[in-house]
Amino acid sequence: MAIILTNGKYYITHSKTGAVMKVLDIEQAQDFHSVDKAILQKNKVPGKCAGYYIMNTDVKEKKHKKKKKRKRKKFTKEERKAIYQKTDGVCYLCGGDITFGSFEIEHRMPKSKGGTDSLDNLFPCGHCCNMTKHDIYPDDFEEKVSQIFLYKMDKRHEDKLSWKIVHKMLNKMI
Ligand SMILES: [Zn+2]
Repeated sequence: MAIILTNGKYYITHSKTGAVMKVLDIEQAQDFHSVDKAILQKNKVPGKCAGYYIMNTDVKEKKHKKKKKRKRKKFTKEERKAIYQKTDGVCYLCGGDITFGSFEIEHRMPKSKGGTDSLDNLFPCGHCCNMTKHDIYPDDFEEKVSQIFLYKMDKRHEDKLSWKIVHKMLNKMI
């Protein structure tokens, strides 16, 4: 465990002569051992420490380990087939065609939000949609997509009367 000062890129340390300096390598960062001491350092040379914040490397390590533990489940060919057939070969988010060889498995309720690997939570998805939805709640995602759609259409057709009418109708439906 180490309490260090960083601005996200550089780390604060001391040279052999005792001068405060910044280094790129976290291994060379000075360990202040306590938050109080790190604050003291920041206050001593506020100019050099401007933009620097205190980081507990232990917390970072723990987070890192947690990330590593959350391994993605490997699906069998039969499982992939069952998921693919749920939508007859189209992305469940955008309706675009997806091939069996390239489709991705999307957790409707994200795993990070408590979603499981059970079949009823898994849907076939294109890469782009999968990346876009990421680990957003399904309802939040749908709302965001609607918002993006309305905003884009507004920008494109803001002067057209026909769009104004459609927009009014959509507002009531969404
Ligand atoms: Zn899609």
